[in-house]
Amino acid sequence: RKNDEISVDTLVKKVLSGDRMMLAKAITLIESNASHHVSQAQQMLGQLLPHTGKSIRIGITGVPGAGKSTFIEEFGSLLCERGHRVAVLAIDPSSTISGGSILGDKTRMERLVRNNNAFIRPSPSSGTLGGVHRKTRETILACEAAGFDIIIVETVGVGQSEVIVRGMVDFFMLLTITGAGDQLQGMKKGIMELADAVVVNKADGENKPLAEKTRREYNQILHFLMPPTKGWETKAYTCSSINGDGMEEIWDVITKFKKITEQSGVFIERRKGQAKEWMATQITERLHYTFYQHPEIKKLLPYFQQAVINGDTTVSLAVDSLFEQYFNK
Ligand code: GDP
Repeated sequence: RKNDEISVDTLVKKVLSGDRMMLAKAITLIESNASHHVSQAQQMLGQLLPHTGKSIRIGITGVPGAGKSTFIEEFGSLLCERGHRVAVLAIDPSSTISGGSILGDKTRMERLVRNNNAFIRPSPSSGTLGGVHRKTRETILACEAAGFDIIIVETVGVGQSEVIVRGMVDFFMLLTITGAGDQLQGMKKGIMELADAVVVNKADGENKPLAEKTRREYNQILHFLMPPTKGWETKAYTCSSINGDGMEEIWDVITKFKKITEQSGVFIERRKGQAKEWMATQITERLHYTFYQHPEIKKLLPYFQQAVINGDTTVSLAVDSLFEQYFNK
């Protein structure tokens, strides 16, 4: 119980001073499910809150092998060289299901890990996707309070995780590669509609002309899609994460995006909308949880289920009875 020895006030002070070790401890507190930790974490976040928000939050998604970690290593290092402080977080849907993870591998981003201006935190390795969602959002706040002005949230292109990450970042980027021809047509379209930029990675060596061709194909498709951000046209770009080509351009695009959306008010409106949605999600989840944990519901549910199965009552009547019990006791 070593973590408990540090008081919330000390943690807050150290996090605000930019201490990365204490930031890591603060995040461990945020990730803990023990009830006394949950209340300490909330107390801490309440104190950190006035110091949050002053960052650009960037989401990056792409299939395994697209080059996400190589890209973040190169891009993050460039930004650190320019005097930025970069925090990299991950949401890994595979870790919530199996405990194993596609993203959490410790050997990734070795160069960035050693950079004093960077902070890398793998995905919380347990809990529901909803729980991971909450922890990551609160971790973003802690990183901002510690003075990180660029927050990168990485996720794998599987299931709901892109939608979740889109809902917590300002700028969302799809990292892709050539030879993904079929993906252009089918399921990738849904992800493309969430993206503020599509970046074709591995545009180097012999692959460079093909990457250019892929970029043009993406642009043709993007032309017919509704961009997710008002006043911003989503376009495709190329880059190489091993030789650094295109990295400057991508940063220019993000800087321009921030400037334009801040001026139009879209930036702050999105953040407000995200906060509202996050609150709605938490209410739904808590209601769901407390309903099924309610002792009376636990006792009665099997009986009502059976009654419905037997055709003795309708689903609506059974649910009415359960809710009566839930709200009366
Ligand atoms: P992730 O699963 O999306 O994080 O992908 P990785 O970053 O682990 O990269 C997968 C493989 O692609 C690795 O072997 C990388 O070295 C390679 N790779 C990543 N970016 C590039 C690039 O820009 N050019 C080339 N040629 N290879 C790359």
